[in-house]
Amino acid sequence: MNNSERERLCAFADSFYGRGYAFGSTGNLSVRAAERVWITPTGKSLRGLVADELAEVDLQGVSQNENRPSKELPFHLGIYQQRQDAQAIVHLHSLHAVALSCLESLNPAEPLPPLTPYYFMRVAPLAVIPYFRPGSLQLAAEVEAAATLHNSMLLRNHGLITIGSTLDEAVDRAEELEQTARLYFMLRSEQVRHLTPEEIAELK
Ligand code: ZN
Repeated sequence: MNNSERERLCAFADSFYGRGYAFGSTGNLSVRAAERVWITPTGKSLRGLVADELAEVDLQGVSQNENRPSKELPFHLGIYQQRQDAQAIVHLHSLHAVALSCLESLNPAEPLPPLTPYYFMRVAPLAVIPYFRPGSLQLAAEVEAAATLHNSMLLRNHGLITIGSTLDEAVDRAEELEQTARLYFMLRSEQVRHLTPEEIAELK
């Protein structure tokens, strides 16, 4: 991995913080190159992160530098082990995605209504992962299993995960998911025109 990709990861991390997609020390991002993963460090804000602060691990999670990885490293590794094509992962506690993940009425088969074509182009199908303690191996196992069919996940009472074959793709998916969840809450009490099944089929 060239250094510029790690710098781009840090720039996206800072951008997420600056736009309110991440706060405190929440959220983590990673990129993979061959047998190595670079992930944001534990207990640190995404604001102003620099490449030298990223933790480097192998695909078994063995540290390759002195920086301590995010406690969500297990699900990042699970995804990379499951998906050879996965090159980047974004995990955020962005407000509207978390609000959606807390709804008692959430339908796992259709967690969001068909509001825009962009949701279908970048996010759907969205998996809903049951609640497990953050950082737990059960959470990592559920995420790894869902990654066989999904690039986007909503973690119950927690946040979102998106997977990309590039860093830009993972970031785009995360932004689109958060925006769609935001739209959903804005429109909850409105009469909404949804995309028709034919309009959705045309996008696939
Ligand atoms: Zn989290």
